[in-house]
This record gives sequence, C-alpha cells and structure tokens, in this order.
Amino acid sequence: MDFELSDEQRDIRDTVRAFVAKELLPLEEDFLRLVREGGARLPRDEERRLRAKAREFGFWGLSTPEEYGGMALPAVTQSLIHIELAKTCVPFRFGGEADNILYGADAAQQEEYLKPTIEGERLGCFALTEPGAGSDAGAISTYARRDGDDWLISGEKTFISNGHDADYAIVIALTDRDKGAHHGATAFLVDREAGWTSSPISTMGSWHQPASLSFDDVRVPAGKVLGEVGGGFQLAMRWVGKGRYVISAHCVGIAERCLTMAVDYAGLRETFGRKIGRNQAIQWMIADSETELEAARWLALRAAWDVDRGADARHASAMAKLFCTAMVGRVVDRALQIHGGMGYTKELPLEGWYRAVRAMRIFEGTDEVQRLIISRDLLRGHTRIGGHFA
Ligand SMILES: Cc1cc2nc3c(=O)[nH]c(=O)nc-3n(C[C@H](O)[C@H](O)[C@H](O)COP(=O)(O)OP(=O)(O)OC[C@H]3O[C@@H](n4cnc5c(N)ncnc54)[C@H](O)[C@@H]3O)c2cc1C
Repeated sequence: MDFELSDEQRDIRDTVRAFVAKELLPLEEDFLRLVREGGARLPRDEERRLRAKAREFGFWGLSTPEEYGGMALPAVTQSLIHIELAKTCVPFRFGGEADNILYGADAAQQEEYLKPTIEGERLGCFALTEPGAGSDAGAISTYARRDGDDWLISGEKTFISNGHDADYAIVIALTDRDKGAHHGATAFLVDREAGWTSSPISTMGSWHQPASLSFDDVRVPAGKVLGEVGGGFQLAMRWVGKGRYVISAHCVGIAERCLTMAVDYAGLRETFGRKIGRNQAIQWMIADSETELEAARWLALRAAWDVDRGADARHASAMAKLFCTAMVGRVVDRALQIHGGMGYTKELPLEGWYRAVRAMRIFEGTDEVQRLIISRDLLRGHTRIGGHFA
C-alpha cells in the first residue's frame, strides 16, 4: 500500500500552495474588513486580476476537458488543489470551469453557453430545488408546457447559488406530469432576458447568498432544451453527484487552516502563567481535531480516487461528504473555542467559517440523504462492507 503523492501531484500541490501564500493570504485582512462592512466577495477587478495571475501560473479549467483548453486533471489532483484553496477565507476559484452537464450541450448551445461560461464571460446557475422539493427532488412542480415550437415555464425555484447574479439558469422543469419527475422532467437553458426574476435569500453565511427564482410563463424556444426532453432528472442527478468529493476536499482545507491557527495560538497565548497549550483540555481538542481531520482527508481522497479509476464513486462520495462536513464543523468550533473571545470576533476568519460550513451539511444532499445512500447501498447489496478491500 502506498499513500505517497506522485511527483506531479506534489508539484501541483506546492505550486497552488505558493499561489495561495503569495496572492491570497495577503488579501485576508482586507477581505475580512470588507465583510465587516457588509461585503461578501472580492471586488470584481481583483477577482479578474487573480484569475489572470492564476492562468499565468498555468491554473485554468481544472476539470475542463483539454479540447476546451482546460487541464482535465484527475479528481485526486483536483482535490489536492481544492484543499489548498480552502485554506484561506478569501473566496477564489480558478477560472475556466463550467457545470459538468453543459458539456452535453449541442453545438449551438456550446457556443452560446458553454464556451462563454468557461471564458468567464457568462455566469449560469443550476435550479432544481423548489419550496416544496429539496431532498425529495422528484416532487418538483415547476412546469413547462408546449406552445407551438416554444415552451412556457412557470414555477418557483429556491436556494439557487449564484441565482441573483447569473445571466442564465439551467432549469429543471416537468414537461410530462403523468410520467413524474424521474422520466417526465427536462433541463432548459433560460436566459435572464427571457423574463425570470430573482431575489437574494439572506442566510447564516456571509458569503455567497443563494436566491429564489420566479418563472411566470417564461417563453423558451425548443433549441434551449439541454439534452433530451424527459432526460432532465438524470442530468440533475449528474450535476448534484459531481460535487461531493470537491466539497469534502474543501472541508479538509478549511479544517487544516483552523487547526493550524489553533495550534499556533495555543503556543502563544498565556493564562495563569503558562501557555494554554500546556493544558490537557486544549491538547485534547487539538488531538481530536487532528485525528478526525486525518480520517476525513483519506475519505475525501478515496472518493476522488474512485472517480479516477472509473468506479461508481457515489458510495465513497456520500461517506466522504457525510464525514468531512461534520468534521469541519467540529474542528472550526474547537479552533474558535481555543481562541477564546478573539475567535468570536470578525477580526479572524473563524466565526465566518463557523457559520459558512454549516451549509455544507445541507446542500448537494443533506446528512440524512447521504445516510440514505450509504445504508441503501449496503441493504440492497450494491456495496460490500469494506469496499474495495472486501
Ligand atoms: C447555501 C445553499 C446553496 C444551495 N444551492 C443550490 C443550488 O445551486 N441549486 C439547487 O437546486 N439547490 C440548491 N440548494 C438547495 C439544497 O440542495 C436543499 O436545501 C437541500 O437539498 C435540502 O432540501 P430542503 O431544504 O428542501 O430540505 P428538506 O428536503 O425539506 O429536508 C428537511 C430535513 O428533513 C430531512 N429529510 C428529508 N427527507 C428525509 C428522509 N427521507 N429521511 C430522513 N430525513 C429526511 C433532511 O435531511 C433535512 O434535515 C442550496 C441550499 C443552500 C442552503
């Protein structure tokens, strides 16, 4: 058994680590000030400058196929990169990415949506969840009815990431009520100019507020159907499934940073004439965090490894997401506790992470949904206990 990274993986990881140290960490103080003043993201110019810089470093389109100019990196390598990027609260993603299901677009749609999205000229959002349909996505009621060659879409979507900024939405709507969502839903590419409206939803996290979207007989030509009529639910599940190992890697990165901060602070802060790190109460919090973090790291990388070897990664990804998202909550909480009153202030990124990571146990499948997947796989015999070691 070999737990070593390859030379290439190590080089890539180190380059991203250097990028984060040189370009992102120095912006943290300014970013935290911006958040204190009510901001939620870097100024657009700054984002553009950083993306251009990252592109100079060679980082652009991590998961994007080479034919679209991307790096087409293996999932494990992408995970290593996401771990590094998550070690700062400065919100930044490398450019050159598009939703995985957009690669199935036809030639005209690729020109209009996929390529400009990869280039950062257009921003899309993915709209599946509705006020009456979240975990039970099959209960969606947004309906698209035929009108000549066009479709007219009506309904409400909610909690849509980027929904207030996006200039188009990938909307999953019923097109055949009799067949239900699993066989009677279709994905549509819907420009904002077509007439849908959005309003931001204020949430517990300060960064990336989602939005609700409203469709009232929004007219969409037949050419805006993404994939097959009736194939929308399968596309939606592909979209939802792809991110779980990435979210897990994010959790590992955030937890690593929080634990580093906690260890540093425990070695500096003195009470009762000695460093707080000399107390067993603090040592145990550090030990538990390190142990859980290490377990999470291997679950996250194992899920990515399943993706790379072409295995069905759903089971491993569900376990990784379930464990990593809970782990990061506990580690941030302990790091905040170790920092005492300072941890509770907005001078440090800990309180922001404390709130932000909570969402990770909800979106792209709640804890309970991951547990349903894991137990169902075992109960139905799709997976054996012990996985590939069995
Ligand atoms: C910040 C954020 C961003 C999001 N971004 C997007 C996006 O871009 N696009 C999009 O389409 N959606 C998005 N979502 C929506 C997200 O996917 C849903 O919130 C999530 O799937 C849960 O659905 P729900 O909120 O309706 O909760 P519900 O499904 O109503 O669940 C309520 C509770 O019941 C539990 N539960 C439900 N069914 C079962 C069961 N069978 N057994 C046991 N427990 C159960 C759930 O786990 C949860 O604890 C986002 C949500 C958030 C918070």
